[in-house]
Amino acid sequence: MTTGNAVERVKCLIIGSGPAGYTAAIYAARANLAPVLYTGLQTGGQLTTTTEVENFPGYPEGVTGPVMMEDMRRQAERFGTDIRFGIVTGVNFSGHPHEVTLDGEQTIMADAVIIATGATAKYLGLPSEDRFRGSGVSACATCDGFFYRGKDVAVVGGGDTACEEAIYLAGLCREVYLIVRKNYLRASKVMQQRVFATANIKVLFEHNTVELFGSDMGLEGVRLVYRKGETDEAFKEIRVDGFFLAIGHVPNTEAFKEYLQLDAEGYITTLGTSTRTNVPGVFAAGDVMDPVYRQGITSAGAGCKAAIDAERFLVGL
Ligand code: NDP
Repeated sequence: MTTGNAVERVKCLIIGSGPAGYTAAIYAARANLAPVLYTGLQTGGQLTTTTEVENFPGYPEGVTGPVMMEDMRRQAERFGTDIRFGIVTGVNFSGHPHEVTLDGEQTIMADAVIIATGATAKYLGLPSEDRFRGSGVSACATCDGFFYRGKDVAVVGGGDTACEEAIYLAGLCREVYLIVRKNYLRASKVMQQRVFATANIKVLFEHNTVELFGSDMGLEGVRLVYRKGETDEAFKEIRVDGFFLAIGHVPNTEAFKEYLQLDAEGYITTLGTSTRTNVPGVFAAGDVMDPVYRQGITSAGAGCKAAIDAERFLVGL
């Protein structure tokens, strides 16, 4: 199944570099498991695209996502984790050791594998959304907000991410429309309060995006529908240069789905309160297996558990 030339044998392979991956690495390295960690495409994971993190214990003044992830990386390296850039393109979990292919060419045989590949932002799925990806459409305000300084933008979603992105963009942009499909925000109370207290955020409850429009130069606006669009007045256009998606995520489990048990939404199923998957020696931690809590701190906790589970598995080999 693999096309690689180099085959390497490792005791503990960690896939992913968010809080789950790095925490697993810290614990595995300190337990002498000589972990090798592959970062995936987005080194540091989703927290590198966030601004202030105020709820991670140990940072009383808050910290930015990128700084926190850099701290975690350094801590993992300090105990000897071998951190490499690479993307898993295939696995074979039918035997033992487990075979993992990186970048379509390198094969690693691992006694234990910890999957911490996280989740990826969802898009609405409109054809016009695809057309303006990279020229107006983005799923990361902190990455791309800078390009829309002084302009009008829209954010879609009613959760904590949407509120956080709207507040961030409000500091850069002229007007921020928050497009919410229900008649309430799902976000935590504190985030809601911040949104309502920000003068240049306009919340459009019960609105859905029908179409994005613009030219070859980029996005110029979006067409919205209010409620179910019973009347002609229910449709309206807003002029925006940027359109930010904040409507949740899908877990990054594509490479593993042939072997691992997943739930209906594609999250890896783990056994009981452990991080064990249905394949002995394969463990999962963080957003890739957690559709409920999805916090940096809960991911870090799961990464710790995965390393301990892996250590116990390896002792029994
Ligand atoms: P959520 O799943 O909480 O919210 C997604 C939002 O997008 C909901 O309002 C949902 O609407 C809306 N939505 C989904 N699909 C569509 C669609 N097709 N069209 C329009 N709207 C849509 O995701 P988040 O990313 O906001 O948060 C994920 C988790 O991370 C949560 O547990 C959150 O608390 C946490 N988080 C915490 C932060 C913090 O503590 N600082 C910061 C960011 C996230 P509806 O409500 O109708 O389902």
